[in-house]
This record gives sequence, structure tokens and C-alpha cells, in this order.
Amino acid sequence: MYYFDHSATTPLLPEVRKLMDHINKNVYGNPSSIYSIGRKSRSIIENARKQIARSISARPDQIIFTSGGTEANNHVFWSLMGNSQNHIISNVIEHPAVTKVLQFLDQFGLEHELVGVNKNGVVSIDDINEAIIPETSLISLMLANNEIGTLQPVQEIVELAKERGILVHTDAVQCLGKIKLDVSTLRVDFLSLSAHKFYGPKGVGILYVRKPEKLSPLIIGGGQERNLRAGTENISSIAGMGLAAETAENSLDKKAELLIELEEQFKSGLNRFFKNAIYNGNQSKKLPGLLNVSFPKNRSDIIMTKLDRANIAVSNGSACGSGDIKPSPILSAIGLDDSINLSTIRFSFGSSNTPQQIDYLLNELESILIKK
Ligand code: PLP
Repeated sequence: MYYFDHSATTPLLPEVRKLMDHINKNVYGNPSSIYSIGRKSRSIIENARKQIARSISARPDQIIFTSGGTEANNHVFWSLMGNSQNHIISNVIEHPAVTKVLQFLDQFGLEHELVGVNKNGVVSIDDINEAIIPETSLISLMLANNEIGTLQPVQEIVELAKERGILVHTDAVQCLGKIKLDVSTLRVDFLSLSAHKFYGPKGVGILYVRKPEKLSPLIIGGGQERNLRAGTENISSIAGMGLAAETAENSLDKKAELLIELEEQFKSGLNRFFKNAIYNGNQSKKLPGLLNVSFPKNRSDIIMTKLDRANIAVSNGSACGSGDIKPSPILSAIGLDDSINLSTIRFSFGSSNTPQQIDYLLNELESILIKK
């Protein structure tokens, strides 16, 4: 498989798989039990908490284990229920794990406003400023968009929010291992991560919380995670995520360099036979390795099907149900008309990709787009 869809998910690192296999075979004590095999499980979990905290410059007690990015985002919003300050600001190109939750919570009196973005997918600080009302308690702004890779001005928004006593959440699910994540400089109050986006296992993630003592629980039961997220911990997945986070942080510069090289190779190769490609999103401030490309006068579903026959995995943001292909809402939000929208493919490169694989991808694209 020629896999260029690392924004959807990433394969497990071999050393992460090895660690998880070892734990699944040998470690079964309940981490809440006080006898030795329980303590062994507990120490594995606390070690992973430290690894993750280090990878984003947080304190271990600020890390809550979750089932992934979706739960981490949900936790932040649900915990605001019942506040007298009941207004949240976010934006139109967030992941559904933000926008759909906010829409759902409307019925319980939690109000929200989604601000728009410019043609590069960037939120304007003035628009956020204008959306603030006395009841605003939280601004939720993703650090990087999953479809176009655009980075948002989260740090600037934090400055603005702090002056008004408003909390800030960032969905950073796409970021670990691609850009530096440091909560001490970012100064957000909440940050969501998901392990399967950084070569860790699926179904596990974290919520970073600057002041955990002020957070309410989302899942209530046996008191795990200091009463903030009940349920017996998934020891091997948490350990795998810890190792994956540590590896992502340690190899950040090398990996970002490789991703940029692959991108450059792809762009110059494509330019040789297809001059009309449109690169969507903010090209000067985006995630390395993610290219969102429109191929005018071509249909992305047809390109994708042909690439699939050549064993190449890429994606588009279009929803496909009962044969009807709907344009991607993210690309519509940045102003692409439906025909360009439906000609768009997301290529997201990863650390297992090689220059030879990019050549293969380019060859196949040339056959599909030019030789037809
Ligand atoms: N947020 C963003 C930006 C994402 O890209 C994703 C997954 O694609 C999620 C949240 C949800 O993460 P998970 O599926 O791990 O819960």
C-alpha cells in the first residue's frame, strides 16, 4: 500500500506495537488495586502520563486520558453545562467533534457562534473579538485544520481571551509530531490530542487541562483520573500513546524536514505535467506534509478510485452517500465553488513515505490526469 492519508490515521510504530504486545501479554492488574500487580499497572500509566506531559511541556497532573480527540473535545464543552456564562465561540471549519457537539448542546441552553474564515481558512482575530459577548466563557479554535492544514492564530486569541477572562480550548489532534506543541507558551486552558494521529493506537487520547481542579467530569463512576474520567484504564493503549508521544517529540525536526522535502518533490513533479493545480489553505502557515490540491476539470472521486486501483490511498473531504457526492463543507467555507471543491484531493505524507513512493504517486497521477 502506498499510504498518503496520514491525516486520517497513522500506522502503529513497531516499537509501540512491541510495547503494547508485551503489556497485553504480561500486565493485567487493575491499576486501582493496591497489591503489586496493580501497582505495576499504575506505574506504567503514570510513566505514560509523564511522557505525554513532557511532549507538550505540561505537568503530568494536567493530563487526563480519554478515548481520543472526540471525547477530549466533548469533555471541555459538556463541562460548561450549567454555567451562567453560557456562550462559546468557535469557527466554521472545526472538526465535527467540535461543531456537532456545539449544535447538540444548543438544546440545553449552551449557546455558540461559529465565526467564518478567509479564503486561506484563517480565522480573523477581529471577528473573534466582535463575537465576544458578556456571557462568553470559552473560545475553541483548532490549532491546525485536518483538511487543509491551515494553522490558526491560537496564541493571539489566547492574549485577547485572557484580557477578558475567557478560557481557550484548542483541538490540536493533527499537530503532535508535526509542529512544536508547548502549552507553556501557547497558554491555552484545554488542548485535545489523539494517539492514532501520531503513530500510536486508536481509541486513546488526552485532554490537557491547565487547572484540572476546576474541571467537571464527563464520565462518572469509579473515580479514576482523579474523578475526572471514570473507567478502568486501557493500560497498553495508554502506554503505547506515551511512547508514541515521546518519539513524536524527539523526532520532530527530522520528520518535519522529511515531510517538507516530500511536499516539494510532489509539487515540482506535479507542476511538470499539470500546471493548473490549486493548493488550498494557507501555504505559508500550515502543517508540514499536508497538501490539499484541486485538479480543475477533474473529479476527485474518479481520481481516488483510479489511485486506489494502483494501491494508493489518499482522501477527499467530500461526503459520499447513496452515490451522491457532496462538496466538502471546509472547502466551501474557504470559498471554493462546487466544481473545484469536487476536484480536490488531500495528500498527507508521513514518516514511512519515501521519495520513490512520491515518484510512483506522480506517475500514476500523470496517467490519470493527462494520459487518461
Ligand atoms: N479533531 C480533529 C482535528 C481530527 O482530525 C480528528 C480526527 O480525524 C478528531 C478531532 C477526532 O479524533 P478521534 O477520531 O481520535 O476521536
